Amino acid sequence: MLVEEGFVCMSNDVQLHGKGLFSKEEVTVSINKKINSGVLFTVNNGNKESISANVENVSNATRNTVLTNGNESICLIEHFLAACSILGVNDIEVITNKNELIIGDGSAIHWRDAFLKANLCSTVKEKIDLSKTIFVKKDKKQITAIPHDGFKVSYCMDWEHPALGKLYASWEPKDGSEKILRARTFAIKEENDYFGVTETLLTLDEKGFNKKLHEPLEPLYHKILDIIGDLRLSGINPLEVNMHVIGFKSGHELNVELAKELSVSLRGGS
Ligand SMILES: [Zn+2]
Repeated sequence: MLVEEGFVCMSNDVQLHGKGLFSKEEVTVSINKKINSGVLFTVNNGNKESISANVENVSNATRNTVLTNGNESICLIEHFLAACSILGVNDIEVITNKNELIIGDGSAIHWRDAFLKANLCSTVKEKIDLSKTIFVKKDKKQITAIPHDGFKVSYCMDWEHPALGKLYASWEPKDGSEKILRARTFAIKEENDYFGVTETLLTLDEKGFNKKLHEPLEPLYHKILDIIGDLRLSGINPLEVNMHVIGFKSGHELNVELAKELSVSLRGGS
């Protein structure tokens, strides 16, 4: 584990501590119920700067998804937002003392545990229809949202590596949230070396993964986790939408583009 996480919990409020991936320092995250706020991140670096979880505030989506209000930014929000979507958590203020959230083991399971402890979860059901197919493409990557009876995500991977290769996975809520929430992020050794997390996170080198996978398709389930988190930036919980989202080699950048399109299609603007 990268971090020793601790919880302090009062009713509907919860506080987590963990080491930051980028700052390498202790990050404290407080989650508090806040009426009609949506999901609001507040960076408290002395001055409190609030940034709402909205696709208009995305400043970078190359390796992780970053939001900014022009003065402050907050990184690594996608796993948190995925847990919010899956567990029906809304109207919260997330106060952090650093410009990032806690990475944990690279999954969203620490957020699930925090939400359960603070009793923030609610049932999520599809209630919004998607009226048309939305198609986003860049180079050989693409992501599509298709009108569908129920919510579903599929992902196709095509890595030139024997440990991954051409793989496909699909998930819908009736499959249970555990396999998605506990699916850890992964990266090649050079990338994790750069952040100094090669030993602590799931790392792929020429021999394969450095840790035993929870299940063979864990890397694909993590891609599905990222899609669910990024699409929450549309302003609507994607699990409330009758749509089948299909990603082909897509990542945060295309997920964010799809969130923009969904915001316009479902809400008539962002
Ligand atoms: Zn991720």
